[in-house]
Amino acid sequence: MNLLLEKIKNEGIVLSETVLKVDSFLNHQVDPELMLEIGKEFAERFKDHGVTKVLTIESSGIAPGVMAALQMNVPLIFARKRKSLTLSEDILTSKVYSYTKQEENTISISNKYIQESDRVLLVDDFLANGQAALGLVDLVKQAGAEVAGIGIVIEKSFQDGGNLVRATGYKVESLAEIGSLENGEVQFRKEEARV
Ligand code: 5GP
Repeated sequence: MNLLLEKIKNEGIVLSETVLKVDSFLNHQVDPELMLEIGKEFAERFKDHGVTKVLTIESSGIAPGVMAALQMNVPLIFARKRKSLTLSEDILTSKVYSYTKQEENTISISNKYIQESDRVLLVDDFLANGQAALGLVDLVKQAGAEVAGIGIVIEKSFQDGGNLVRATGYKVESLAEIGSLENGEVQFRKEEARV
């Protein structure tokens, strides 16, 4: 996805050797045109996977997730990170440790919105150590549904998440793969270095 790679090159801010800030188009301000293209790309890459729902985590997964859901003509569900008063008895929960924020979140969804017959595409903004994606896999399994695949906007390929999540056997598609953030610079993985 050249549009995404250009955006990362031009607007991404390298905060450290492991953390990239993309607040100008994904994590704070949102670029709707770019989100629409991302949604189309996920819909294309998972078109043969029988997706019936998209599942993401609040808040940064919602923009790419809703566009993917729109393009696939299915609903979007976002897991909550905080206990919601309106999410009452029938909730499924999973614990997700964030190495980036050094904190554990309990993510939750109401089991009302995922049925055993569902094939769920998981979408998230970043893949780093893989804990968020694995937490979503866990929620889908608890609901008795199938994971149709995992769509990631930005994968940091130098961290462990890619291997960990691919070891589950699900199809994982990342629209941008970052090979390194060393020396304050974004380096994409070799096959994407053309931007
Ligand atoms: P993981 O569970 O794969 O370690 O991390 C995934 C979550 O951490 C993402 O949903 C994202 O919110 C956050 N995250 C991880 N690495 C980065 C990063 O380099 N930049 C930003 N903005 N968020 C990140």
